[in-house]
Amino acid sequence: MNTLVRIQVACEDEEKGRRALREAFAVFKRIDHLTSRFPEGEPAPSAPGDVLRINDKAGLGSVQVSDDTIEILQRSNYYAGLSGGAFDVSLGPVMDCWDFGQDKQYVPASEKIGKALKLVDYRNIEIDPGQKTVFLTEPGMSLDLGGVAKGYATDKAVKTLRELGIKHALINAGGNVYALGTGPDGAPWRVGVQDPRNSEGIVAVLALKDSAAATSGDYQRYFEQGCIRYHHIIVPSTGQQARDLIQTTVIAESATDADILSTALFVLGPRHGMSFVQSLPDTGAVLIGPDKLVSVTANLNNQLTFTGEGGYQVAGYASKER
Ligand code: AMP
Ligand code: MG
Repeated sequence: MNTLVRIQVACEDEEKGRRALREAFAVFKRIDHLTSRFPEGEPAPSAPGDVLRINDKAGLGSVQVSDDTIEILQRSNYYAGLSGGAFDVSLGPVMDCWDFGQDKQYVPASEKIGKALKLVDYRNIEIDPGQKTVFLTEPGMSLDLGGVAKGYATDKAVKTLRELGIKHALINAGGNVYALGTGPDGAPWRVGVQDPRNSEGIVAVLALKDSAAATSGDYQRYFEQGCIRYHHIIVPSTGQQARDLIQTTVIAESATDADILSTALFVLGPRHGMSFVQSLPDTGAVLIGPDKLVSVTANLNNQLTFTGEGGYQVAGYASKER
């Protein structure tokens, strides 16, 4: 998943704790293999996972996939519809134009992006849950699950930890956090909301218990050209970077939902993002703009403490009852 996964488990039996860690990491490996769109060459080439096979057969035919892949795509397309296409996992061809992760990165020609954009439309992902098949209807289409796979894997790893009897755990998969139970001391886990302009700094502290928090930012993958930062969160209608926010954090019960929504809100921007998140039940958000203004949903009032560091200013708490 191109990121660091950190899992902390607290329990009284060391052997039980170690086994839980092993199994939780195995879940991440499994979901990574299913959702990766690049072949794994190291240590040895492995059989291609679902996403590689789906992309390979774009425009040609449907592909038999696992329950996990069906679930990820259904959830992604549910939010694609709700967000008016702000979240769209058919963004593969456009992500290929931007080529993040290569040594030499440059801004692609607009004709190239224009061509790729024609292939982006989540409605052309045909999901058949009965037959457990997926079909990308246009040749050249491709899936990119980078905005949802980490959150989904986090939910599945939490399920495994629970089944193994773990009562206290904290997972952080590249900014996708899940707090299982309380910390070992009985108090909620305390999780920092990163300062988007200082990797050592913290804008606020979140108290979490049996809850997920996902963060998207313009600093996680990017390159600079002509003093402009070209990052990895793309507006599906234009093929260009979303620029109205620099960081979004979403708090929800499901890590899958939080992951999808943090990316979706980043694309929607502060105004549309805030009204969108307020239309969803039991979901909170912290949105940070390029001007260092922070907007927060009112339901986070009791679990969020700002540090006052880094020059961030809380623009206001948005509540539903206005
Ligand atoms: P995240 O860090 O969860 O916000 O995910 C960012 C990743 O999601 C990117 O690296 C892309 O792989 C993918 N992505 C970028 N823009 C979008 C979008 N508008 N909809 C869905 N996935 C996206
Ligand atoms: Mg995401």
